[in-house]
Amino acid sequence: MYKPVVFAAGLALAATPALAGEVNVYTSRQPELIQPIFDAFTAETGIEVNVLYSGKGLIERMKAEGKRSPADLYITADIANVKAATDAGLTQPHGSAVVDAVVPAELRDAGGHWFALTTRARVVYASKERVAPGAITTYEDLADPKWKGRICIRPGSHSYNLSLIAAMIAHKGPAQTREWVRGLKANLARTPRGNDRAQVKAVWAGECDIAIGNTYYLGKMLANPDQRAWAESVNVVFPVFEGGGAHVNISGAAITGSSPNHDNAIKLVEFMLSAEAQSLYAELNYEYPVRAGVAVSDLVAGWGGFEPDTIALTEIAELRGEALKIVGETGFDN
Ligand code: FE
Repeated sequence: MYKPVVFAAGLALAATPALAGEVNVYTSRQPELIQPIFDAFTAETGIEVNVLYSGKGLIERMKAEGKRSPADLYITADIANVKAATDAGLTQPHGSAVVDAVVPAELRDAGGHWFALTTRARVVYASKERVAPGAITTYEDLADPKWKGRICIRPGSHSYNLSLIAAMIAHKGPAQTREWVRGLKANLARTPRGNDRAQVKAVWAGECDIAIGNTYYLGKMLANPDQRAWAESVNVVFPVFEGGGAHVNISGAAITGSSPNHDNAIKLVEFMLSAEAQSLYAELNYEYPVRAGVAVSDLVAGWGGFEPDTIALTEIAELRGEALKIVGETGFDN
């Protein structure tokens, strides 16, 4: 998650009645990840895309703006953030047959309020030097005492880990999940701190042998000269839940309830789900397209295929409160 708030110049127009030929986007995604797609959309349609980039506070902002909000489209990462907008009553059903046809059912709201644009898996980064290939294959393995003192992970209360723990609850129930979280806690090399990349850095530094992180960070670290060595010190492993698949989360979008440029918002959404934009978006983000038949980037393809877990995102989102309770009860972050 990044901090700076960038106001695109176009939003100054937002207080005036909507002009034909524009669409307003509020997004927590980083400009370099998404602006090229908006530029391609404008080049193709002539519709201007005004963007408010902000790492946090967009939902509060939309709430405060109410019906007069200029926002047409909310784009963010993580099911919790996407669904939070819907739960706050800030979105409306998209009503687009294209969205329903392109986005697999488990990656969109049955009521049409939100839908995924890309997916990412939460995986294990294992030291090339100190973890034998095949030594870890499941999320359950992370609680095996053989890893005592060897695992690094960011705080359990972070969104990404809450979703992972919630998915474990969906598979195993709360009691077994509490034991799993306790076992994982007992295996940690240090108190949870830092972001996903910091855990891989800790493997590189020899502080731990296994890190947990989202897939796209491997691409981001490889592209960063200061972090390349961290990424090169690990193998990516796609664990599965016993009897399930690899834990997947999304970046996603929703049409706002008050959207003043509704038709253009739908056009932009349908463009973002086109083969061209899906390929570009996946390439820029090192994520997985939701549209079937669109290839992942060569780099991502090199990580190998995986079987995504089939627990519905809505169920994961609903179990996050329970997950947070377990994080508290087990003192995971202390
Ligand atoms: Fe992230």
